[in-house]
Amino acid sequence: METILLKNGLILTQNKNREILKGDILIEGNKIKEVGKEINEKADEIFECNDKLIFPGLINAHTHVAMSLFRGYGEGLPLHKWLTKKIWPAERRLTKEAVYWGSMLGMLEMIKSGTTCFNDMYLVGIKEMGEAAKKLGIRGFISEGLFNGVEEKSVEEHIKKGIRSIKEIKELKSELVKPIVSCHSVYSSSEELIRKAKELADKEGLLFHMHASETRKEVFDLMKSKGKRVYEYLQEIGAFDRNTLLAHGAWVSKREILLAKRYGPTIAHCPISSLKLATGGIGPVAEYLQEGVNVTLGTDGPASNNSLNMMETMKMTALLQKHKYWNPTIIKEQDIWDMATLNSAGFFGIESGSIETEKNADIVIADRKNANLVPMHDPRSVIYNINAGNIRNVIINGEWVLKNGEFKKVIPTEVVEKTEEFSKKITENTDGT
Ligand SMILES: [Zn+2]
Repeated sequence: METILLKNGLILTQNKNREILKGDILIEGNKIKEVGKEINEKADEIFECNDKLIFPGLINAHTHVAMSLFRGYGEGLPLHKWLTKKIWPAERRLTKEAVYWGSMLGMLEMIKSGTTCFNDMYLVGIKEMGEAAKKLGIRGFISEGLFNGVEEKSVEEHIKKGIRSIKEIKELKSELVKPIVSCHSVYSSSEELIRKAKELADKEGLLFHMHASETRKEVFDLMKSKGKRVYEYLQEIGAFDRNTLLAHGAWVSKREILLAKRYGPTIAHCPISSLKLATGGIGPVAEYLQEGVNVTLGTDGPASNNSLNMMETMKMTALLQKHKYWNPTIIKEQDIWDMATLNSAGFFGIESGSIETEKNADIVIADRKNANLVPMHDPRSVIYNINAGNIRNVIINGEWVLKNGEFKKVIPTEVVEKTEEFSKKITENTDGT
């Protein structure tokens, strides 16, 4: 097996004791074999990291990566108008090929900003998104977001779509790309569809993922139609357990936070898209954490963010919680690192999220002598000042995906050109009128 020895790096390990070490990392095959002050074993490759900060790959727990095709499209419109006049008409023109290139572009952006794993739901081109992830060598959990409107119609047909997309992703036979089951939301998926989709996930031994409590309107509409708040409703219909990931979870009551504590779903906090769509509520991350609820971080799609940069999301999470509670100590920088790495790895059941023996070699190597990172009194605090320009080296599953600033598996200029071409095709003359 190929071995790589990373020498003399400053390592934010995220191990059990959350140690920060100056030392070496030995990678053998796809795993981390050893981490220590000085490793004197021979290796096929030695990579000097004296001026580097090394941390575990970040995990983007909720996104719609192909929406990079719509980045900046219809900017500045109110949400409903933006969706009905711009995004939905353009999405109706989406082709599988467009999704392939748009996804790949988004994945390049994620890798360049330190993300090595992502969780996605989208409406078309699921297989193509999987193919793009496989080609690039990034970890991905990929699904079709099932929705049928709030009335019970064609549930079986939608479940069949879910089954088909699971099959398509499994057929890729990739170690890195895995299926998950998703419903879009309580306002766009019927009760029966959510029940059946969750049953499908359980039957297949897969995780379940949906948007929940993103907006006040969603909460009030459900109160009106079902007489329940979103978490209460999901719990009653069987979609609120340890294998469930709820994106946003922002408009929730204290009672719902306690329900989450009791039943164990994971929350994917996506603060930037909530800010941009002006949904009002800032997710109560600090309260979730105080109750021991598992919280992860996501960018959401690049049409409502507009980037896929998890480092921005880490910074925004810290700032918003401090601001929301008028308390600069309400959340620690260490909590932010945990949310972006270990909490997600735990939910997705992957041996990633920390730099320790036997873990997957999903590793980000940043240039720490760049002006914006100097001095570095506490490496954990780089969440406030690191940017994608600092990252020129990324290893996923023991393989170089980005090395010395160069992507190893694709030609980025081709991806950029193709995405621009397809984006133009599907958005041209789409004013929805
Ligand atoms: Zn979303």
